[in-house]
Amino acid sequence: MRVGRGLGESAAVAVLECPPTVATNLTIMGSRVITPFRGKHNHRRCLDDALKAAEQVCAAAGLRLTPLRRQVLELVWHRHTPARAYEILERLKELGHRPAPPTAYRALDFLERAGLIHRIESLNAFVGCADPGARHAGQFFICERCDAIAEISDPSLIDALQGHAERLGFLPRTRTIEVRGVCARCSAEA
Ligand SMILES: [Zn+2]
Ligand SMILES: [Zn+2]
Ligand SMILES: [Zn+2]
Repeated sequence: MRVGRGLGESAAVAVLECPPTVATNLTIMGSRVITPFRGKHNHRRCLDDALKAAEQVCAAAGLRLTPLRRQVLELVWHRHTPARAYEILERLKELGHRPAPPTAYRALDFLERAGLIHRIESLNAFVGCADPGARHAGQFFICERCDAIAEISDPSLIDALQGHAERLGFLPRTRTIEVRGVCARCSAEA
């Protein structure tokens, strides 16, 4: 696999400077951190884990992870920050692929429906999910200064929203929660 080299930034991919890890795999009453704010770490491992999980999820669901879909998934996972569709298209061009934009958008759509990536609506961007095997609505903390993003999963938040929606007679189409603010590292730097 030539993930880093393929992107022409193997060093940048291997070690990322990100906000410090606060907690990993923290579990409180079914709530857990799926992706914490990460400190310096071997991002190659994140990529390898994501690709392995994607292969397992696709095999279990009878879905085809075509070379283009796999490449787009790698590009979304390039960093722990949301990737815009046009950035993915630019990177694909740099890598010598020239898919028509609709083809790339369809690949993103496939990855999202397979649960391998989440769409961050407020940014019209995508982020990889570190736990694609367990279907869930994304719950995110997004740093407005450095773009870092953390994902949690807390069923009680879903239950609370569902309860309010029912009382209001509202049929929710989305259940994604996006909380914007400042990560620990950025607030320490301020
Ligand atoms: Zn990483
Ligand atoms: Zn997720
Ligand atoms: Zn930040």
